[in-house]
Amino acid sequence: MAKFRKIGVLTSGGDAPGMNAAVRAVTLSALARGVEVVGIYKGYTGLISGELKELTARDVANIGGISGTILYSDRCLEFKTEEGMAKAVKSCHDNQIDGIVAIGGDGTFRGATDLSSHGIPTIGIPGTIDNDITSTDYSIGFDTAMNTVVRAADALRDTCESHARCEVIEVMGRDAGYIALECGMAVGAVGIAVKELPFDTEACIAKILDQRAKGQRSFIVMVSEGMGGEFGEELTKKINEAGIDTRFIRLAHMVRGGAPTLRDRYTATRMGDYAVDLILQGKSDLVVCEQDNKLVEVDIQYALILDRMYKNKLKDGDLDKFTAEQVESMKAFCAAKHEKFADIMEAANTISKN
Ligand code: ADP
Repeated sequence: MAKFRKIGVLTSGGDAPGMNAAVRAVTLSALARGVEVVGIYKGYTGLISGELKELTARDVANIGGISGTILYSDRCLEFKTEEGMAKAVKSCHDNQIDGIVAIGGDGTFRGATDLSSHGIPTIGIPGTIDNDITSTDYSIGFDTAMNTVVRAADALRDTCESHARCEVIEVMGRDAGYIALECGMAVGAVGIAVKELPFDTEACIAKILDQRAKGQRSFIVMVSEGMGGEFGEELTKKINEAGIDTRFIRLAHMVRGGAPTLRDRYTATRMGDYAVDLILQGKSDLVVCEQDNKLVEVDIQYALILDRMYKNKLKDGDLDKFTAEQVESMKAFCAAKHEKFADIMEAANTISKN
C-alpha cells in the first residue's frame, strides 16, 4: 500500500451520464486515504501527450449531477500501437502515476489490460449507456439514458395519440438491445426489435392493424441501433404502406446527456470508491462489476472473453488460457443472461398482445 502515492483517473470511449460522479468518487476516495489524484484528459490521448492535472476535492465538487465528463473523452488509435503504449507508460513513470482507474467500455478495458501488462496497475469501471458489458449487470449511464428515452417516448406518445399515428423510435445500442428492450416494455411499445432475438415485421404490422381495428390510436415501436442500417426507416415505410400513418425518429446521442439519475450517481460513487480500494490493495487488471446487487471484481481478460462469448464473437484460441471449469462457468453465465433477456422480451410481447 505504501507504494501508492498518486493515481490517475481517465474517462475514455463513449461518454455516459454518471462518469463525472465516478471521477468525483475516485478522487475523493483516494484523497481521503492520503493518495494524490491526477486527472488524465481525453482518455488515453492525454496519457500519451501528458495532458494531466492534479485534482483536488474542490475540482470535483458538484460535478456528480452533470453529464458528459469533465476529463473529456477521446478515441485514441495511437494507444493501440507499441510506440503509443511506450509513450503512455513513460508518461506514467515521468509523472509518478502508480496506477490508473479507467472509466469506459470494453475498448477502454482492452487498453487498461494492455497498460497492466506493461507494469501499470489498472482498474476499470464500466461506463456505457448501452449496458453492453457482459460481466456486469449494470454499467454507469444506462439508467439515465433509459429515463431520457422514456421521456421522449412519452412526448411522442402524446402527439401520436392526437393524430392516430405510430412512431418508430430508434435508440442506441450497437452491440446490445437493453435500452430498446427495457424502454420498449416500459412505454408499452407494440413491438421491440433487437438484434439478439428474431423480429417478425409482418406479425408486428398485423398486431398494429388488429389493435387499430379495436380502437387503439397510437403505437410505438422501439428499435435498437443494433438492427443495423436503415432497419427503422424500412419498418416505418412498411407500416405506412399497411395504412397506419407512421413517423421515424432516431434519438441517437441526445440520450447521452441530461442530469444523471440517482441510480447512476449512486452506482458511480460506489464503484469509484471500490476501484480505489482495489488499486490501493495492490490489485490490478480488474473491472468493477455489479452482480446480483453486489460489487465484485472480475479479471479484465476474463471479462473481455466472456463478453465475446455472449456476443458470439469468440476468436480462435480465445478460450485457451482458461480452465475447463472457467469455460463452463462462462457458458452458464452467458446462458443465464440470454435467458433473462428472452424472458423480458416474452413478457413485453405478452403484455402488448392486445
Ligand atoms: P469504449 O471504451 O466505449 O468501448 P472504444 O472502443 O472507442 O470505446 O475504446 C476507447 C479507447 O480504448 C480507444 O480509443 C483506444 O484508445 C483504447 N482501446 C480500444 N481498443 C483497444 C485495444 N484493442 N488495445 C488497446 N487500446 C484499445
